[in-house]
Amino acid sequence: MSLPLDLRDGYQRFRQQRFELESERYRKMAKSQNPDTMIIGCADSRVDPGAIFSAGPGEIFTVRNVAAIVPPYEADGGLHGTSAEVEFAVNALGVKNIVVLGHGQCGGVAASLALAKNQPVGVLIEPWVNILAPARDELLSRMSGATPEDLQRAMEFQAVKLSLSNLRTFPFVEEAISQNKLTLHGAWFSIGEAELRWWNSETDTFETLLPDLDGAG
Ligand SMILES: [Zn+2]
Repeated sequence: MSLPLDLRDGYQRFRQQRFELESERYRKMAKSQNPDTMIIGCADSRVDPGAIFSAGPGEIFTVRNVAAIVPPYEADGGLHGTSAEVEFAVNALGVKNIVVLGHGQCGGVAASLALAKNQPVGVLIEPWVNILAPARDELLSRMSGATPEDLQRAMEFQAVKLSLSNLRTFPFVEEAISQNKLTLHGAWFSIGEAELRWWNSETDTFETLLPDLDGAG
C-alpha cells in the first residue's frame, strides 16, 4: 500500500520547510525528550494542541482520545492507554503541568449525552464516554430545562472538570501536586472562533483568555 497522496505531499512539505529550518533541533532532541507540559486532548481532527499553542517538536507531551477523558486510577491489569501515558508523563518525564483540553462541538461529549437517552453510540465508545456519567447525570438533573446547545456546552466543561478530579485519584499525580512539582489545568477551545478558555479553580469558571486580542491591532 502506498502513502495516500495528501500525506505524501504533507511529508514532502515537512521535509522541505519545517525540518529544513529546525533540523538541528530535531537532531539534538533525537536522544531524549524533556517537555514541561502534558496535554490530554480530544482526538477530534480540528483540535490540534500543537497548532493551538504554537508548539514545536518536543514541547508538549500529547495524548488524544475520544472526548479528552481521563479515567479514574485503576491498577487492575486492564488496558489503560491514557492512564499509562499519565504515569509516563509524571513519573518518567516529570512534567510540570497537565492540561485537560476540552472543546466545542465535541462528538464524544455528545455521545455521553446521547447515552443518557439510550441512543447507541458504539460498542467501544459507550463504556469509554460512560466515564463521564456521574458528571453528566448531575448536570442533567441540574439543567433539566436547558436547550441542547446549552447542555452540550455545560457538559463539555463538566467533562474537563471530571477528568481533572479523576487525575487526582492517581497516587503519583497527587504526590507530585503535594510536592509542588505538578499543576493541573482545565481548558476549552471553541474551534470556529479559536476562543480559548482556562478554568479558574477559585471561581470555578472557564474564563476567556486574551479577550483583548480582537481589535488590539
Ligand atoms: Zn471531541
